[in-house]
Amino acid sequence: MIPKNKFQAPTGMHDILPPDQPYYQKLYSAAEGIVDFYGFKKIDTPILEDAELFSKGIGLSTDVVEKQMYALRTRGGDFLALRPEFTAGIARAYIEHGMFNLPQPLKFYSIGPLFRSEKPQAGRYRQFHQFNLEMFGEQTPVADAQLIQIFYNILKELKFKNLVVEVNSIGDSQCRPYYKKLLANYLKARESSLCADCRRRAKQNPLRVLDCKEEKCQPVKAQAPQIVDHLCEACKAHFKEVLEFLDELDLPYRLNPYLVRGLDYYTKTVFEIFQESESGEKSAALVGGGRYDALVKLLGGRDTPACGGAAGVERIVEHLRGAMKIEPGPQLQSKGIFLAQLGGLAKRKSLKLFEELRKAKIPVAESFGRDSLKAQLRSADRFQVPYALIIGQKEALENTVIIRDMKTGKQDVVKLDKAVDELKKQLKK
Ligand code: AMP
Repeated sequence: MIPKNKFQAPTGMHDILPPDQPYYQKLYSAAEGIVDFYGFKKIDTPILEDAELFSKGIGLSTDVVEKQMYALRTRGGDFLALRPEFTAGIARAYIEHGMFNLPQPLKFYSIGPLFRSEKPQAGRYRQFHQFNLEMFGEQTPVADAQLIQIFYNILKELKFKNLVVEVNSIGDSQCRPYYKKLLANYLKARESSLCADCRRRAKQNPLRVLDCKEEKCQPVKAQAPQIVDHLCEACKAHFKEVLEFLDELDLPYRLNPYLVRGLDYYTKTVFEIFQESESGEKSAALVGGGRYDALVKLLGGRDTPACGGAAGVERIVEHLRGAMKIEPGPQLQSKGIFLAQLGGLAKRKSLKLFEELRKAKIPVAESFGRDSLKAQLRSADRFQVPYALIIGQKEALENTVIIRDMKTGKQDVVKLDKAVDELKKQLKK
């Protein structure tokens, strides 16, 4: 015998039960409504991709690839990974389908699950969802600013208050290598003042030290050279323009020289959006993104400037749950009806009538599993429907049906084959 509760959802992965679904729906429909205005089209890519796509695209020495990727060898011998983020897969699709031949820019949005084997904690799961945006073939800094604005608008639409955008530029292949070396030398001289993780990062991926939250590393970070002081002319000009556009849009942003993001493919602009409490405490990041001008070429495509970002669905839903009560709502619209039956023959006739009602697009509830008419009419009351249709034994034999006005209790008997038309008339009143 299987012991009770032997099977549970895997650690860090969650069921989204029906009462929670309206919060997800609320987010998705608000977000889709907004991105549609900006010309984004939906794209779905497989949840599994060639593992090398991620190690190449995101970077071998990033936490996401090094520690958090779920990878598996298929029976056919392919080495696949559950996607830890959207961008690499969408860039792969962009290249694979020759989308660079289409008029640019191309704007895509995606919704779906991502997988990272992280230490589960509040707001950090192993399976989570993102609402993701990508823009390909767009070089102008307007795109970076607009992307930030779109995510900001989505959160505003969902009634988030006290939002803060943090931005930084992490340069490109012209200026970052020099800065990286400068930073690595600086860190090397202070190795003993760094946490164990950062000692490793200082060698492999020094920018990640700037991201460290450990108390021990803060004084080292505070004195570290800042990349904005070492940007090449092109990156500096791009960043300046992004900030000017953000000013123009009246977005409350601030510069965060420590914002480097966890994925290697970023170039130039990076950003995150948080909510701030009254006391100035930052929430976990709700949105993160940036520019990735080198990624498409790195993955085998043409040189294609691009930028994108992703909103963490669970973190937003968590907030919505606290901020607004969304009732799952009656399963029927108020114009719906309830279909009740009594006896075997009536049940058979009801099944057929139920299908006719569906074709006529009349919302209808039933309780075929119940035999007592009283219990069924109680259900009808609970659904607050204006009418119930009742087929009892007598009606089944006579091919008729009772239309009961649930408010007044008035009942009319009509022919079964006229029931749908008659109902339509009554519902129109
Ligand atoms: P990233 O893809 O790491 O840039 O993350 C973008 C957004 O996704 C973050 O700002 C979070 O809101 C969300 N996110 C990232 N990782 C997780 C996770 N493990 N669990 C829940 N949400 C996450």
